Amino acid sequence: MNLTRSHAIARDQQDPLAKFRERFFFPRRPDGQPMIYLCGNSLGLQPKGVREALNVELDDWARLGVDGHFDGTHPWFAYHEMFRRPLAHIMGAKEHEVAALGSLTNNLHLLMVSFYRPTSKRYKILIEASAFPSDQYAVESQVRFHGFDPADAVVEVQPREGEHTLRTKDIEKYLEEHGQEVALVMFSGVNYLSGQAFDMGRITAAGHRAGARVGFDLAHAAGNLELRLHEWGADFAAWCSYKYMNSGPGGVSGIFVHERHADSPELPRFAGWWGNDPATRFKMEPGFKPAHGADGWQLSNAPILSLAAHKVSLDLFEEATMPALRAKTVAITEYLLALLDALPNHEFEVITPRDPEARGAQISLRTLNNGRALFERLQAAGVVCDFREPDVIRVAPAPLYCSFEDVWQFTQILAS
Ligand SMILES: *Cc1c(COP(=O)(O)O)cnc(C)c1O
Repeated sequence: MNLTRSHAIARDQQDPLAKFRERFFFPRRPDGQPMIYLCGNSLGLQPKGVREALNVELDDWARLGVDGHFDGTHPWFAYHEMFRRPLAHIMGAKEHEVAALGSLTNNLHLLMVSFYRPTSKRYKILIEASAFPSDQYAVESQVRFHGFDPADAVVEVQPREGEHTLRTKDIEKYLEEHGQEVALVMFSGVNYLSGQAFDMGRITAAGHRAGARVGFDLAHAAGNLELRLHEWGADFAAWCSYKYMNSGPGGVSGIFVHERHADSPELPRFAGWWGNDPATRFKMEPGFKPAHGADGWQLSNAPILSLAAHKVSLDLFEEATMPALRAKTVAITEYLLALLDALPNHEFEVITPRDPEARGAQISLRTLNNGRALFERLQAAGVVCDFREPDVIRVAPAPLYCSFEDVWQFTQILAS
């Protein structure tokens, strides 16, 4: 591969997504230069249209007060309905299988209320080793809530000795041998630390063969991988919108519930009025009747300001399309890996899988000595990436707004 700067610039000129870069705000260094932003896996940049979209809702609220629910520019009463089509597209789902609501960890709990139904013989939750702390706390507290001991009931699949990522075969093998004890398989789509993308189709099939329910935390996969949740057949999934989906800090989350559960009033759930069948929601009668599909897990009326920001970003995704974003992700991460491999003095080891099918936009570098100091040098030179204890630097060239030249510059700074 040609590793010169002029080649990077030429790649940017041929990039069909290059035009999206100018539709985002970039943090700037004191000298006014934009930073090299490789942190879209943690907090996506602000699309320039967000302020105007928020102003529409703020103006409606100022102008109309409560009547904004029905007379607003985008009436708030039905606001959440605008998210079905774009989310279905990103998640590879049917429109009635997705909904934008709440926050990620809250939603994982709500979905586990429905889909983690332990019995005395089948009560374990299978997760990946090094799951994100919030997910670990969530599953531990769920098993405790049902009277089990996390030390016994939460099982982590570990990488093999000397390896950093999991083999799908090992997940399948565990489920073949011990699956009769597993009530729920809950994996991430992309592991936050290693950047490994899991084979969600195979994991779902293995979980279901074992008689377990299967759910995914897509925090690092949503807007990153090409997902096919419906086809893979997962029972549920949840994600946040503020990482690759650029919808702002603490932005609204989303859920997927497979259509086989679309009309299952017998599924236990913690209910709220917004999840009730809209035909009877305002009759204010007792007796919860869940709405069809994922909408039936809504609790509260929709967070309009957060959704307004989310909509701006989803419009960009619809324009860019997931296949084009994914193609750029594969190309730009391959380019980054080639540049990293060519660096003379490696102070790190790449722990993200080399197989493009097994990664998204994030490349994780395990530093060999004093990683924090290396990270601080990167920061001082205008690179935004992050450091995860004890020794991992994560860099993610998000395809909507990162350029090949960004990646080239990053590796030059790393080399110096
Ligand atoms: C980012 C992330 C979260 C964050 O959870 P919130 O409830 O949005 O604070 C949870 N799980 C994973 C895997 C994440 O990557």
